[in-house]
Amino acid sequence: MPQDEEIELASAQFDNLLNREQKEAFNYLLKHTVFCPNCRNICPQGVVDHITVLTDADEVLMKGKCAKCGSGVTRLMLIEEDACFADRVKEIRNN
Ligand SMILES: [Zn+2]
Repeated sequence: MPQDEEIELASAQFDNLLNREQKEAFNYLLKHTVFCPNCRNICPQGVVDHITVLTDADEVLMKGKCAKCGSGVTRLMLIEEDACFADRVKEIRNN
């Protein structure tokens, strides 16, 4: 598998990739910073049906739906990487 492929993360992989603080950051971003182009606002009722993708740049991309109107929303989750983050990414890419 090429190094730079996008990978949809299974929930166990997502669980393993982010440490506790990073998950808290992720949940904060999910709740408060995902913009819905249809509502023209931060998703008023949050995001549903979301998946996470490891991008070709090893960033975490969230794809989901606005809970209010159902429009597709995406957001790059900018999460502060710890020292072992790259190792955990490698583990996911090698499996
Ligand atoms: Zn919306």
